[in-house]
Amino acid sequence: MNVHDSEQLAQLLEGSGYTTTGSAKEADLIIVNTCSIRDKAEQKVYSQLGRYRHLKKGKPGLMLGVCGCVAQQQGERLIGKIPYLDLVFGTHNIHRLPEFISRVANTGRPVVETGFHETVPSIGILALPEKGSVSAFVTIMQGCDNYCAFCVVPYLRGREESRKFHDILAEVRALAVHGVKEVTLLGQNVNSYGKSLGNGHSFSGLLRAIGEIEGIERIRFTTSHPKDLSDDIIACFRDVGALCEFIHLPVQSGSDAVLARMNRRYASADYLDCVRKLREACPGIAISSDIIVGFPGETEQDFQKTLDLMGKVRFDTLFSFQYSERQGTAAVGFDGKVDPDEKRRRLIELQSLQDRHTQEKNDRLVGSTVEVLVEGPSRNTSRDAMGRTRTNKIVNFAGGGNLVGKTVRVRIVEAFLHSLRGEMLD
Ligand code: SAM
Ligand code: SF4
Repeated sequence: MNVHDSEQLAQLLEGSGYTTTGSAKEADLIIVNTCSIRDKAEQKVYSQLGRYRHLKKGKPGLMLGVCGCVAQQQGERLIGKIPYLDLVFGTHNIHRLPEFISRVANTGRPVVETGFHETVPSIGILALPEKGSVSAFVTIMQGCDNYCAFCVVPYLRGREESRKFHDILAEVRALAVHGVKEVTLLGQNVNSYGKSLGNGHSFSGLLRAIGEIEGIERIRFTTSHPKDLSDDIIACFRDVGALCEFIHLPVQSGSDAVLARMNRRYASADYLDCVRKLREACPGIAISSDIIVGFPGETEQDFQKTLDLMGKVRFDTLFSFQYSERQGTAAVGFDGKVDPDEKRRRLIELQSLQDRHTQEKNDRLVGSTVEVLVEGPSRNTSRDAMGRTRTNKIVNFAGGGNLVGKTVRVRIVEAFLHSLRGEMLD
């Protein structure tokens, strides 16, 4: 979501006559787009801004700004901490960046704008990816109304707001004309798309409509909340040809007591039910998830339940985090804070179990033939090409640059933890 916000900022700046530079030293304007989901992400922002301080000294005309969740959360306080900042603007004000730049240029004074609006106009900024890009993000909704006890998103991104159905379809059509083959639909909880519109549109209806758009070969989405994963959405994995066999479905914990305290509003059995139905509708679907360890009150038995759930599901990939306390969230007031060393131990144990599961899953693909949509040169060597399977696994193989945007058949010859190696068949 932040990557896409940055693309939209770049689009706005191009409209104001700016061009992108690969080097901060050359820049006339630097905007740091920030995340504050965990404390570590927030601390990175301060060290990054510290590194820009000397650039500002050497080039007094340089404008330096901060946007996104840290800006939303800190507002004026950021100027107090970092007096050389020119711009601080929050998640609902992205579309006003050109206006803010003029204000700073005209007054020489910093601009701080962190108000929330009824609707978020940046939701509709069409950020066409670079010519030749295979994939693009499409925002379908903003904000979140779920208030999980650990999460700052509802406070920093505001109330849930779905984008108009026909605007989304128009954007996807424009992307297809631009040469995009794969779209990833973005929202904090895409499954509840349409609720705030009140006109009968739903996420499954949106998936089916996008599935009809010529030129779009692959549809992905993120993120799905298990409590809202309806049978209708699950059926799309069977019925919509372009919908990739992959879902990111964050579980957060395998313990019902922890899930209840997290305010996730499902139990582990409900989650396992979702997984069973997904696999029935779409055998071979790859499933990834998010898990937090060390949430307040998580006992060793609770943690073992999470490992048990992982054994039952066998995720393809997993994003796992130590619980990080965030100001303003309900969990700040919870008892039973877990010791940092214990959180670290649990994370290491959980990640080593997941590494075994991921490697086993990848090993099973050796000898099989997969469809790969080629995205560009491989990171390892530019002589090789890199693409993804429909199940979102990275495949590197020998192949020329003219393959970008093409879907090729590749036989898998070797499996690693984070990628596969293959040989092109056609
Ligand atoms: N909307 C998505 C959902 O409901 O699953 C997730 C959004 S959040 C940006 C991504 C992930 O960050 C969450 O799934 C959760 O695992 C993790 N996360 C959020 N708040 C956290 C916190 N306070 N400490 C540790 N991890 C956190
Ligand atoms: Fe945060 Fe996701 Fe829960 Fe919303 S649904 S509060 S974004 S974890």
